Amino acid sequence: MKFNTKTIHGGQHDIDPAYGSVMPPIYQTSTYSQSTPGGHKGFEYSRSGNPTRAALERALASIENGKHGLAFASGLAAIDAVIKLLKPGDEVISTSDLYGGTYRLFTKIFEGFGIKFHFIGMENATKIADYVNGKTKLIWVETPTNPMMNIIDIKAAAKAARDTGVLLAVDNTFATPYLQQPLDLGADIVMHSATKYLGGHSDVVMGALVVNDDALAEKLYFIQNASGAVCGPQDSFLVLRGLKTLHIRMQRHCENGEKIAKFLLHHPKIENVYWPGLEDHPNHTIAKDQMNDFGGMISFVTKGNDYDEAIRIVENLKVFTLAESLGGVESLAGHPASMTHASIPKEEREKTGVVDALIRLSVGIEDVDDLINDLKQAIG
Ligand SMILES: *Cc1c(COP(=O)(O)O)cnc(C)c1O
Repeated sequence: MKFNTKTIHGGQHDIDPAYGSVMPPIYQTSTYSQSTPGGHKGFEYSRSGNPTRAALERALASIENGKHGLAFASGLAAIDAVIKLLKPGDEVISTSDLYGGTYRLFTKIFEGFGIKFHFIGMENATKIADYVNGKTKLIWVETPTNPMMNIIDIKAAAKAARDTGVLLAVDNTFATPYLQQPLDLGADIVMHSATKYLGGHSDVVMGALVVNDDALAEKLYFIQNASGAVCGPQDSFLVLRGLKTLHIRMQRHCENGEKIAKFLLHHPKIENVYWPGLEDHPNHTIAKDQMNDFGGMISFVTKGNDYDEAIRIVENLKVFTLAESLGGVESLAGHPASMTHASIPKEEREKTGVVDALIRLSVGIEDVDDLINDLKQAIG
């Protein structure tokens, strides 16, 4: 099956033997009756498994070209499960330009349990090998990065991992499997905040993991059940519904993203535009190689790098909503320096390019003329 068919049918055949419903029923139940102790029909308790969640997990595996999918209560719960594969003394090499919540989980929770994290710029993936030692167990890659849209070469990271017997996990939230399929490029684990593009309608918080290896899947399933950060059947249904339009939503996100990136590039008040589809993007060649298109996430900086002007622009937007999060059908704008990255000291955040006037857009699927006119009036 091709991708555009998998988003709709992947893992969904014979979904309801009882009545043939086309969508799986929402099995709003915590438990399942047994004919004799242990005599059940595949499900015994909804933390361990639920048919609606199982339908979603099969769909997730299918669209990422993996064998096993696991759905969690949030993206961070999915990451938490991956790090619980490790033991005190183990080391992780991670992208430095990282989703803030992931950074907080690594440094404020797991460092306290004796796991060591090395945060490095991975745009030159050959650098990864310099940090691998006998204690390294995991390489954590996020690409494109947030909010600077750097691109990391997944194949090169996979080579570094394979050469040293280390696991490679890729946070595929920004790209989605429509744009890149990390397992095919050599990753061992794909992670998603399904809250974003997979759900796609800003109405649910959820996370996901997809893997190929049976033994790794078994370990992650053990953690999913033992730690218990699972998602409910209603949310599973919503994300499954969202997936069915992922391909057409992504197509429009990309089309609108390209038009807006080019509009910003030629705007006299704009200094820099960060979008991997632009030819002068520093990692454009890798992006072209590993992605099918370039997505709808764009960051930009106005000339003069004025903090107050950036605040004025995001406040003046009318079609774009000023809000955290991304990946929904509606366009959102954010000001990282005062919102997502406010907790990082100014000097630190400026090192990675998160300057005072940086604005991040999650370009939605509205009519692009309305989006461009909105940016025109807000930038002035
Ligand atoms: C939002 C996000 C997360 C965290 O996911 P939640 O669903 O909010 O827990 C992780 N990584 C990236 C890239 C994200 O955008």
